[in-house]
Amino acid sequence: PPSVAWFRRDLRLSDNPALLAAAADGPVLPLFVLDPALWRPAGPARRCYLTASLRSLDAAVGGLTLLEGDPVRRVVEAARAVGAERVHVAADFGPHGARRDAAVERALGEAGIALVRTGSPYAVAPGRLRTGGGTAYQVFTPYHRAWADHGWRAPAGDPADVEWLRPDRSAALPDVEPPAGMTLPEAGEEAAHARWQEFLDRVADYDDERDRPDLDTTSRMSVHLKWGEIHPRTMLADLAPLRSAGAAAYRRELAWRDFFADVLHARPETARAYLRPAFAGMRYDEPGAAYDAWRAGRTGFPVVDAGMRQLRATGWMHNRVRMVVASFLVKDLHVEWQHGARHFLHWLVDGDLASNQQNWQWAAGSGAEAAPYFRVFNPTSQGRKFDPDGTYVRRWVPELAEVTDPHDPSPDDRERSGYPAPVVDHAAERREALARWEEIR
Ligand code: FAD
Repeated sequence: PPSVAWFRRDLRLSDNPALLAAAADGPVLPLFVLDPALWRPAGPARRCYLTASLRSLDAAVGGLTLLEGDPVRRVVEAARAVGAERVHVAADFGPHGARRDAAVERALGEAGIALVRTGSPYAVAPGRLRTGGGTAYQVFTPYHRAWADHGWRAPAGDPADVEWLRPDRSAALPDVEPPAGMTLPEAGEEAAHARWQEFLDRVADYDDERDRPDLDTTSRMSVHLKWGEIHPRTMLADLAPLRSAGAAAYRRELAWRDFFADVLHARPETARAYLRPAFAGMRYDEPGAAYDAWRAGRTGFPVVDAGMRQLRATGWMHNRVRMVVASFLVKDLHVEWQHGARHFLHWLVDGDLASNQQNWQWAAGSGAEAAPYFRVFNPTSQGRKFDPDGTYVRRWVPELAEVTDPHDPSPDDRERSGYPAPVVDHAAERREALARWEEIR
């Protein structure tokens, strides 16, 4: 019988077990539902990227059915229209997605249609790994060991000879311009594989160079993973025969992605609430002028500003710099992590609730295996260490391009170039952060 393949965060044909399950039923209606509850908060970069990725999927299936509205109604309508008995999806473990799927499952059930979950966006699905005590992991190292021991299925191949059902009605894909001044990466399954193949040639150096924003040698796969244009299992299979330290380091990063999804799945409230409740009792400042300067990339701390401007120009920021700007917001400006996380989710093209919120909690000292709170990043020495020639700062803060020491411009340099004075005294704010932390210890 016909079935529906309902795409969500798995905008690909290759290595897509849910799609293979649908194709095994018979002809397949490829469906995407533009859900206002997700579309509105997605932010302009992700909306634009998603549209481009859907356009690519539409071409690959020769006509995607696109419906707008509440999936509870739209998925049932689509399934009924083609006489499907089953709707196939990859399981969604996010707080919103899990709730939505349960509601869709009930509505489908009333129509005698089943929702079938096959696979997930992760190598090891959230909830699969448990500590000896039967609880979710809160520390990465033992999680990582269990993750590697557990292993993952071999990639599911490409679907062969799918009989795609054409939509009898479909909304037009919205035309979304990228945000002013922002250049987004190419979207779609083909682009994801091309980037991955290109990265595989240099993964051996990943270990040494991944912390260097100036070298820009990370994979940039986060956006493709975010939308499921490639499955991490496909990537892990390509890494399996490689023995380099770079390949091992990269596998570990993919484990972090699974780990944070697992943490959010076990503690869905931590999308907003502190994972370590004591931190809710810390004194914080309301976001004010310094927070605005942080958002605008005008704090007067070059590497912080470079990162915040890279975010606005590309929808992406290097991981090391994400850590530095997050620490700066929480520990130098004493602003709660949720404000920074919201700004990130608005602009990041790879913005992902699990990775974003849990990394922010990590930086704020309140998360799973959090950075110890007392270890406060010094933005100037972080800049010097990871951007030794100042190339990264010069690229994103062009006022400082000609300055002798772009990580610590003199008052004269600042004056001449129109670059702001530091919004805070780092040493003083570090002491203040530690004093506030002492209060909740
Ligand atoms: P690579 O270094 O090439 O890493 C390969 C892949 O491993 C990434 O694509 C990603 O899927 C995964 N990965 C690497 N580091 C992490 C990590 N710390 N946590 C989880 N997964 C990781 N990543 C997101 O995908 N979405 C987010 O919204 C997000 N928000 C973040 C917020 C903060 C404050 C911090 C410190 C980190 C955040 N990260 C987020 C994690 C990380 O910064 C990005 O995944 C990475 O920079 C993406 O670039 P890349 O693909 O070139 O990374």
